[in-house]
Amino acid sequence: MPSEVRAQTAYIGLGSNLEQPVEQIKAARLAIAALDGVQELAFSSLYRSPPMGPQDQPDYVNAVMAIATTLTPEKLLACLQAIENSQGRVRKGLRWGGRTLDLDILLYGERQIRLPHLIVPHVGIAERAFVLYPLFEIAPELTVPGLGRLAELVDNCPRDGLERIA
Ligand code: ATP
Ligand code: CA
Ligand code: CA
Repeated sequence: MPSEVRAQTAYIGLGSNLEQPVEQIKAARLAIAALDGVQELAFSSLYRSPPMGPQDQPDYVNAVMAIATTLTPEKLLACLQAIENSQGRVRKGLRWGGRTLDLDILLYGERQIRLPHLIVPHVGIAERAFVLYPLFEIAPELTVPGLGRLAELVDNCPRDGLERIA
């Protein structure tokens, strides 16, 4: 698959709630920054959030990373899934069950993508405090394609127990 000619800014949501989540997030950050065709632009604070879905699992550690990338959205998704797998992500069981690592493409430039396996902006972005607050920390001026100003989305989203980790 051909790479994009021009670098795009993309935002990746990182989450983990198993096997030393803080270390999982740090390792994922390094692995993403080391990808060919990816350059790190910014990384949010780490946040702790109560689980979405099944409640009988540990709290999550979340963060958002901004990158410049020449990878296509599909190639980027494949690379992120390879990193999830290499950090022991097991794909089975309950929806939104515990995981060592979850990497979601939140935004890719101004693009709106609707493929069977890739939806951008990421679904649920407007309702998820653990996505909106770290994203706002590193990109307060952002507009989310199809949804409007990030600042407004944050204003309309309760923190839902989200805490910044010192
Ligand atoms: P959610 O997508 O609601 O946050 P999840 O992250 O737990 O839930 P996964 O099991 O990690 O869901 O992913 C399910 C599928 O979502 C993946 O196989 C992938 O093809 C698809 N997907 C669609 N859009 C995206 C995106 N923007 N980023 C990452 N995966 C996506
Ligand atoms: Ca997710
Ligand atoms: Ca995911």
